[in-house]
Amino acid sequence: FVTGKKKATEVAHAVWRSIVRKGDVVVDATCGNGNDTLALLKMVADERGQGRVYGMDIQDSAIESTSSFLKMAVDNDQQQELVKLFPVCHSRMEEIVPKDTPARLVAFNLGYLPGGDKTLITVPRTTELALQAASRILSSGGLISVLVYIGHPGGRDELNVVESFASSLPADAWASCKLQMVNRPIAPVLILLNKKDLFQ
Ligand code: SAM
Repeated sequence: FVTGKKKATEVAHAVWRSIVRKGDVVVDATCGNGNDTLALLKMVADERGQGRVYGMDIQDSAIESTSSFLKMAVDNDQQQELVKLFPVCHSRMEEIVPKDTPARLVAFNLGYLPGGDKTLITVPRTTELALQAASRILSSGGLISVLVYIGHPGGRDELNVVESFASSLPADAWASCKLQMVNRPIAPVLILLNKKDLFQ
């Protein structure tokens, strides 16, 4: 799935599709304009009305944008109800995702809201707290996916925090990897953290 023509988000979606199944619980930790939320909804929604996407964003305007995008893109009311949106910091995801339904995927698309205020960006401290929370709510076999943009001020600091979290995970329980274009130095970096299913 890695070709020069694909956008980083499409590459991320292809990876998600290899892990996520109909009926799964997933988290969009940075809803923004709702593109990832919609992609996730399509992956989890099944005919029996199961599957859940818990979406969050620190900006009310992003939650409103995601909500209206989903209303436009999804004509099935029952499917729309599978998405639960919260205007909160993603470091609080444990207050949102019910403890009895571990998440199969927690997706982060860091940086600023496209078309929005570029000063309202994800920051290393809360990103780190959110990654810790994500690691606790993830199911065995599940994936934390982090798309990190490094072209804006602060982007590389955030990459350092994500990489240091990824490398601190014990290798017997986690597989951490990094996908990066080596001939495009400021292209986004995709970090994938797979919680091993120790019973398989
Ligand atoms: N996934 C989005 C999409 O498909 O349109 C794009 C996300 S955008 C690159 C990053 C988003 O992270 C912004 O909307 C921003 O408001 C949000 N954000 C920044 N800090 C946050 C935080 N602490 N908790 C949750 N969201 C945050």
